[in-house]
Amino acid sequence: MIDPSTVLRAGLLGISKSDKVKNLIENAPVSRGVVNRFVAGARTADAVSAVVGLQEDGRLATVDFLGEDTLDRRQASATRDAYLDLLSALSDRGLTANGAAEVSLKLSALGLALGADGEKLALEHARQVCELAATCGTTVTLDMEDYTTTDATLSVLRDLRADFPWVGAVLQAYLHRTESDCRDLATADSRVRLCKGAYKQPESVAYQSAHDVDLSYVRCLKVLMEGEGYPMVASHDPRLIAIASSLAGKNHREPDSFEYQMLYGIRPDEQRRLAKAGHQMRIYVPYGDQWYGYLVRRMAERPANTMFFLRAVATKK
Ligand SMILES: Cc1cc2nc3c(=O)[nH]c(=O)nc-3n(C[C@H](O)[C@H](O)[C@H](O)COP(=O)(O)OP(=O)(O)OC[C@H]3O[C@@H](n4cnc5c(N)ncnc54)[C@H](O)[C@@H]3O)c2cc1C
Repeated sequence: MIDPSTVLRAGLLGISKSDKVKNLIENAPVSRGVVNRFVAGARTADAVSAVVGLQEDGRLATVDFLGEDTLDRRQASATRDAYLDLLSALSDRGLTANGAAEVSLKLSALGLALGADGEKLALEHARQVCELAATCGTTVTLDMEDYTTTDATLSVLRDLRADFPWVGAVLQAYLHRTESDCRDLATADSRVRLCKGAYKQPESVAYQSAHDVDLSYVRCLKVLMEGEGYPMVASHDPRLIAIASSLAGKNHREPDSFEYQMLYGIRPDEQRRLAKAGHQMRIYVPYGDQWYGYLVRRMAERPANTMFFLRAVATKK
């Protein structure tokens, strides 16, 4: 049976590629208000204050400078520079050495899609970010994008881990291959963020129904919790959070041997509850003005997020 939310999600992710729709959303007067709910702000200083705010009630952060599909080398180096600036600013406020904040990188923003040399360029830029992260005493996680980039991202991960074993990977439960990738990556100290997956992917590579994605998530979570690595449970789904907690107990995991992760602005009360209960709770904090792709993925995930946007448009005087 076709799941209506799956159709809505696929539709939104499909039409979002249109320049017309992009223009409309980027320039709608209400967009800023909606964006503010999910994005910390435009500047490095905004990201730093968001991290400080989270830290006040015991939440950790992974900060993402928004941007993807970089099409020229200048933009790719500018993205690297933004991360270097961010890490310095976080470190100056004492937010890196104490583990309060790390950073999340999209390789496409660092040049992955720039032709034959793209992978080499993205690796070089990511390496420079890792070098500064190491000096600041914190870690880096490589976000996972659409399935055409999975092999390249895992290959960059392997190269980076040779020098920086703490670099985190992201695996997406909706891909058929992920259970096997989890087995490969569930090794000692390996940081792996497991998420459902946010892109529109073909049937040949990905589960299409929400139910199948959830089942895959649980299988993958079992592998990671039973393994020797450091699972990062990235989901807002109450059932998956309960299953993660029960699997952690079954595998005698201490609270510091795994963490929960959620997105900035989504289920903040639950984030605080988990942190208060003594769990490591890390929030993905995006900032910058390239928020379009990120916002569309959040709208596609949850009809309520789309309704929030449409209601804001409809009630705008
Ligand atoms: C820290 C983090 C990093 C991520 N990194 C990546 C990445 O690198 N690559 C990638 O493809 N994807 C990434 N994602 C996105 C992820 O793949 C999912 O698209 C996103 O998290 C939504 O899936 P979900 O597990 O929260 O469940 P969903 O299926 O979206 O929601 C399940 C249930 O969670 C609850 N819920 C969800 N949203 C809300 C809300 N706003 N308010 C109240 N309840 C809610 C509801 O009960 C809902 O039924 C990341 C997600 C997180 C949290």
